[in-house]
Amino acid sequence: MENKNATPYKVLARKYRPDNFDSLIGQDALVCTLTNAIALNRLAHAFILTGVRGVGKTSTARILAKGLNCIGLDGNSDATMHPCNQCEPCKSIQLGQHVDILEMDAASHTGVDDIREIIDGSVYRPVSARYKIYIIDEVHMLSKNAFNALLKTLEEPPEAVKFIFATTEIRKVPVTILSRCQRFDLRRVPLDLLITHLSKIAAAEKINTEPEAIRLLAYAAGGSVRDSLSLLDQASALGSNDIKLSVVENMLGHANADGLLDLLQSCLDGDIQTALTSLKNAVDSGAEPEQIISDLMDFIHQASLIASNSLIEEISESSKEKLVLLAKFDIPRLARCWQILLKGHQEIKAAPRPEASAQMLIIRLSYTSAMPTPSEILNKLPAAPSPIDDSPKPNNSHNSQPNTPNNLQQNNSETDNLPGTTSGPDDLAVNNGATITALTHDMSAEHPSDMTAPIATSPIIAPDTLSNANSQTRSSSFENLRDIAEYCEQEGALILASDIRNHVELVHLEACHLEIHLVKDASKDLAGKIAQFLNSRTNQRWMVSVSDKSSSLTLQKTDEIAKQEKLSMAAEHPIAKKVLEIFPGAAVTDVITPIENEMPSSSTLLAETDLIENPEPDIFPEHSDKPKLSDKKEKMYDA
Ligand SMILES: [Zn+2]
Repeated sequence: MENKNATPYKVLARKYRPDNFDSLIGQDALVCTLTNAIALNRLAHAFILTGVRGVGKTSTARILAKGLNCIGLDGNSDATMHPCNQCEPCKSIQLGQHVDILEMDAASHTGVDDIREIIDGSVYRPVSARYKIYIIDEVHMLSKNAFNALLKTLEEPPEAVKFIFATTEIRKVPVTILSRCQRFDLRRVPLDLLITHLSKIAAAEKINTEPEAIRLLAYAAGGSVRDSLSLLDQASALGSNDIKLSVVENMLGHANADGLLDLLQSCLDGDIQTALTSLKNAVDSGAEPEQIISDLMDFIHQASLIASNSLIEEISESSKEKLVLLAKFDIPRLARCWQILLKGHQEIKAAPRPEASAQMLIIRLSYTSAMPTPSEILNKLPAAPSPIDDSPKPNNSHNSQPNTPNNLQQNNSETDNLPGTTSGPDDLAVNNGATITALTHDMSAEHPSDMTAPIATSPIIAPDTLSNANSQTRSSSFENLRDIAEYCEQEGALILASDIRNHVELVHLEACHLEIHLVKDASKDLAGKIAQFLNSRTNQRWMVSVSDKSSSLTLQKTDEIAKQEKLSMAAEHPIAKKVLEIFPGAAVTDVITPIENEMPSSSTLLAETDLIENPEPDIFPEHSDKPKLSDKKEKMYDA
């Protein structure tokens, strides 16, 4: 853009700077408001114009200055929205020579002294114009003191003084200033308007153009008229007044759009070799890897819009045919591409060798597109059985507190087994959740919740003399060892609870007598501690005796066995079987009961979040040495 033409002629951006509101394109709302304000004579003392660079802020300020001071050809006309550009004030303002119109660039005059000059000058009446007008560009650059000095003048402005401020960063302008200004927001100029504008100017300048070249120039200008004209200048110089698409593509560092669309098509077809060749061609032709990926994202975006039947103006005719072909890959697949490209684009910026990084990205993209989307997996699976129980039991191992690393790991394992589920949030997640719901309902129906009850022990003589008939019967709710362990937890005796879970096997439990067996590494006084705890908390006299042998297991062992059974049952489920078949190397690592039936479970959402952050599929699922996906995750969280 800095490549202003070396030839002595006036650059297009200056030559075609609008000199009245009719030639200011894309700002209809602003023109309408200003017209009304002038017609009703409700002009503020200060205006602030804001918008991105090159949309016409300075032009608007000058046209406004002319309109306010125009006296018309008869020399008697009032302020107008249509300055004549013929009268003396109009002409001298146009040339920037009018003594009462002062333009200042705040970027280079930020100090309070610069403002002081203005303030001092503002008390004098205009020399020849109707209004003395101060145009301050980039006003947000003024220092705090300068703003404060200006504020006083804005509070009580002299009769014949107007201020016109322009800024690209309205947020940096103090509210005290803003509240004293009439604010106008200049919009980015829409693409079709820019295209028309550029075409007209190219015709007037006798520059030959290809429509697609003009479209690309306008697109690259991002809504800025000045940028679009600078680009037109640059392109016409490069192409010696003949602007071809290839010239513009070259100039902007874009690869040939056709070639990129073919590249994308190869990726989505899973044809890695052809895709890499296309990438090499694009890079060889001078396109920047980062720009290539950015262009690919644009195409995915456009194809997705086509796939969702949204009308978009930005699609060029020549690309349309290929984009329609791309759109035939369904939206989940396109959304997955977008995420991979988005992440890859950030990586390329940081990569020491952008080209290598781009190649890796293309390989990843091609590989993933061959993977089934979640909906395709579900279609391949046998129909899920309807849930047996509509009110799932709350399950401690999976609750609504997903923030412990342990939980994260468990929740992730659900999708670890489905590496294809890398697409973005879509309704499929709900289906996914439903399938898993069905699976776990089967499980929970047979949840061995009372496996802790003692298995037929040999009869024991229980001396019942210590039981206290008057005590509150907390003990009556202890049906098994798990109840006691949970009671300890409730009461805050966490170490004791953990000792009970890990080191105690139940022999017998009745009334206030607990007979236990201690496993090898249990501390010797554990029985005493349990008795002491129960005595103090239940208001009952407890007898805890230790037996040499036992026929039950510790709670911890019982839970482990129950989990293993759950897992192998889950793996035997027809849906799980099919999933394991589709993804070799996958394993069932956990069974989770969703909390809500109709919503995707929190675990599903979590898993999705994780996938959005890490949309990398595993590239070599069939590799035998490959660690299980869940192993990788564990390491990640350990680190
Ligand atoms: Zn005039």
